[in-house]
Amino acid sequence: MTAETFLPFSRPTIDEATIASVGDVLRSGWITTGPKNAAFESQLSEYFGGRPVRTFNSGTCTMEIALRIAGIGKGDEVITTPISWPATSAVILEVGATPVFADIDPVTRNIDLDKLEAAITPRTKALLPVFLSGLPVDMDRLYAIARKHNLRVVEDAAQAFGSLWQGKRIGAFGDFSSFSFQVNKNLTTGEGGCLVMNTPEEARLAEKYRLQGVTRSGVDGIDVDVLGGKYNMSDIMAVIGLGQMKTIAAVTAQRRKLAEHYFAAFGTDFESATGAQLPVQAFDTSNWHLFQIILPDRGPGTRADFMTRMQKEHNIGTGYHYAAIHLFTLYRELGFKEGMFPIAEKIGRLTVTLPMFYTMTTQDVERVVAATRKVLAA
Ligand SMILES: *Cc1c(COP(=O)(O)O)cnc(C)c1O
Repeated sequence: MTAETFLPFSRPTIDEATIASVGDVLRSGWITTGPKNAAFESQLSEYFGGRPVRTFNSGTCTMEIALRIAGIGKGDEVITTPISWPATSAVILEVGATPVFADIDPVTRNIDLDKLEAAITPRTKALLPVFLSGLPVDMDRLYAIARKHNLRVVEDAAQAFGSLWQGKRIGAFGDFSSFSFQVNKNLTTGEGGCLVMNTPEEARLAEKYRLQGVTRSGVDGIDVDVLGGKYNMSDIMAVIGLGQMKTIAAVTAQRRKLAEHYFAAFGTDFESATGAQLPVQAFDTSNWHLFQIILPDRGPGTRADFMTRMQKEHNIGTGYHYAAIHLFTLYRELGFKEGMFPIAEKIGRLTVTLPMFYTMTTQDVERVVAATRKVLAA
């Protein structure tokens, strides 16, 4: 055991002004979707270059609604990555479409765009890439493929708030960009998400899908013409988002600084000395949502052993993002098997997430690096 305090892999930071603003909303008499949500949506829209934005109560339903707005349903194939949180492929099944996986790139750990293009069939209607750890895919290539094959794109940008592509914000261009404000994300509302779209028609549909399909006309007239759910964001959540918007630039800058410190502390010999693999040094693009290393393969239990020892011997929390989705029971029942996406399977077993959050210090980074080296040495 160690006397040092526990270092979690992630920790949200909500400042006192934001906490006070939640109290104000609770006292105001209007706590569901209202003026704070409208203000949050308008700030988000400004952040994303003026594109229409609508909020929801999770990143998961945000992606599902994007697929619905795009008209994806039964008989349609959607190509996605096997390395993500289960939400990414669940929403494809949720709208009645068929998930088609393409294996990942071992270096970026994102969907391999060559394999994605090879997986396109006449039934393919949409692409659902994930920007894992905040690292975008090659966006020029992605949209060139989408244009060539006439496909919609729903970006699972859940982890990519504040990430860039050639100097442009992820979410400031493209087809649909879906973000999550779940508690571990760089910007959180406790739970929540938002969808960035292109047209007022899409935004109107988003509003219908998030509130039971209801449209209002006049004071006493409502109609329902699409099947919607209950996915709205309350003003309690929205006001947390407004507070987080004030610090997101500082959060992103601090995460970049911590990532730089990780690379410096690991040094150039870490990979050859241990057989582990560091992430891509994507300082022009990534928001450093996660700092993930791939462990050297020491057989079954490699990651569990590493995580247990980091916790027990060094009091450091780690996580893993993610196990390969196609090997879960539900997907095996749909016909997916071991061996189909070997890179995802390997990385799904060996990826581990080291601590990274706004209030972490460079000394914390050094502590994690020393502990990682120690655990991997023995
Ligand atoms: C967090 C996350 C989601 C799900 O978002 P929720 O807000 O938890 O519903 C989906 N995809 C990825 C890649 C995520 O990181």
